[in-house]
Amino acid sequence: MCPWFSGHLTGLQGNERAPTLEHAWIRPAGPALKPNLNHIEAWVFDLDNTLYPASTNLFAAIDTRMGEFIATLLNVDASEARRIQKNYFRNYGMTLRGLMVNHAIEPGVFLDYVHAIDVGVLAPDPALQSALRRLEGRKIIFTNGSSTHAENVMDQLGVADHFEAIFDVADADYLSKPDPAAYRALVARHHLSPRATMIFEDLSRNLAPAAELGMTTVWVKNRTAWAESEEGLESRLDYVHHETENLVSWLEDAIKMRLSEPSTAR
Ligand SMILES: [Mg+2]
Repeated sequence: MCPWFSGHLTGLQGNERAPTLEHAWIRPAGPALKPNLNHIEAWVFDLDNTLYPASTNLFAAIDTRMGEFIATLLNVDASEARRIQKNYFRNYGMTLRGLMVNHAIEPGVFLDYVHAIDVGVLAPDPALQSALRRLEGRKIIFTNGSSTHAENVMDQLGVADHFEAIFDVADADYLSKPDPAAYRALVARHHLSPRATMIFEDLSRNLAPAAELGMTTVWVKNRTAWAESEEGLESRLDYVHHETENLVSWLEDAIKMRLSEPSTAR
């Protein structure tokens, strides 16, 4: 088990054919949901605070760099920069989008600056590597960050070989999550079938457009949950089909569940 995570796994219930798994439906199964998960062909993962936990403070370092960028760009102090940053995050989905709309910044300059951090705080994650290796299906990273940052993080965790692609904020033409256009672009680029796609995210609001498209969603909750608290979001939202505080354990259960239903057509 990944040492960073702890907490209670929640998932599926009503799967009478996998009684050994302690699962409980978070919400009544919508049309996209099938208890055995064997219909899932593609697994889409957010990067920051999903593939690695917020407790590493790696994303906190990015967050700090964003504030520094804004303070320098707009010649304001740190607290004013923070206010602007969070305002853009809330109103535009991501800080970068707000800066592009209001200040016409070059996105590459911003991304290079905020991602100039030490990913060495992340340790290789053998448990995640193992789970990804045994989880059959296509795997794609879907991030509001840059591909370079994603590659750095994946290399550090030791999971790069398990993913066929990174769909980054540039691929989304900077219409980042949770803009529905970003999800449509992801689906089109990688020829995904939304009803056969499961998506993992630490920001629950980023699951809403995915559920709208027909994807099955997993909210990977952080113990710090800084963004959720700042947004005032509640858990138990109808577009959150599953939730867990431990990504690796959730994946392990999904793998067992799929193996327990080998005859089910995918
Ligand atoms: Mg994230």
